[in-house]
Amino acid sequence: MAYKPFDLTGKVALVTGGNRGIGLGMAEAMAQSGADIAIWGTNEERNQEAAEKLKAHGVRTYARKVNVANEEEVVKGMTETVKEMGRVDSIFANAGIGYGAPSFTEMTTETYRKVLAVNLDGVFWTLREGTRHMVERAKNGDPGGSLVGIASLAAIEGAARNQAYAATKGGVISMMKATAVEFARYGIRANAILPGWIATDMTSSAQATPAFAEKVIPRVPVRRWGEPEDFGGMAVYLASDASAYQTGTTLIIDGGYSIF
Ligand code: NDP
Repeated sequence: MAYKPFDLTGKVALVTGGNRGIGLGMAEAMAQSGADIAIWGTNEERNQEAAEKLKAHGVRTYARKVNVANEEEVVKGMTETVKEMGRVDSIFANAGIGYGAPSFTEMTTETYRKVLAVNLDGVFWTLREGTRHMVERAKNGDPGGSLVGIASLAAIEGAARNQAYAATKGGVISMMKATAVEFARYGIRANAILPGWIATDMTSSAQATPAFAEKVIPRVPVRRWGEPEDFGGMAVYLASDASAYQTGTTLIIDGGYSIF
């Protein structure tokens, strides 16, 4: 029989922030591999557009307006997503925002709280609710599940002027490790992905800055910006049974930037 570990037929993946950028890149690859896809985002128009795009791959899709910084919306969102899709096998806690400041000394408490609310509270609530569903499923004789937190190189490299953002991403790595240890007994694995410099709306100002093109991108060994599609393979792998023994890890996708 052919080895088909990356066939995701029958599996359901939830991607927060799945309506564009890295989230959509991951969702598209998983849909192409046969997974049914649920996406969450705050912009309903973008959610619908992305859902239509994903549906073209012949899978079931469900788009829901959820602000991950709101606990009630996340709790209800998970209940409704499971009800609509029947189950959730993998969750990519990807929704994030990237506010910095001219300097740490000028970073306001408002910025700090705003970034924490989406990037850390949002991941915490999304994964806690997802874990509850997976554990319940396991107790009913259907173990397994893959939790993925999208962190950043900012978690492990000095991200000047981004103390709040960097702290949330470091927190995501720690959350994934804690979850990996606690829930391995249910067949649930938890990993973090650390993107490098990726061309999305989040980095639009850096993309438009000539100094960035001259000084930063040449330091990427692969010599280009990363694209949302560059995350497709890892998403399919982590959503598939091929990654059954992969847990608690931090997976860097940065074109070699962090080792150069
Ligand atoms: P984008 O800005 O392109 O997309 C962000 C996504 O998150 C959108 O789908 C957006 O949808 C959603 N989102 C934002 N806030 C919320 C919220 N409160 N509730 C629900 N959804 C929300 O970003 P990227 O694709 O670049 O980033 C994705 C992840 O990757 C983030 O966690 C980011 O920190 C991380 N990352 C990105 C890097 C890069 O270079 N681009 C580098 C390292 C990490 P909507 O607008 O509809 O709410």
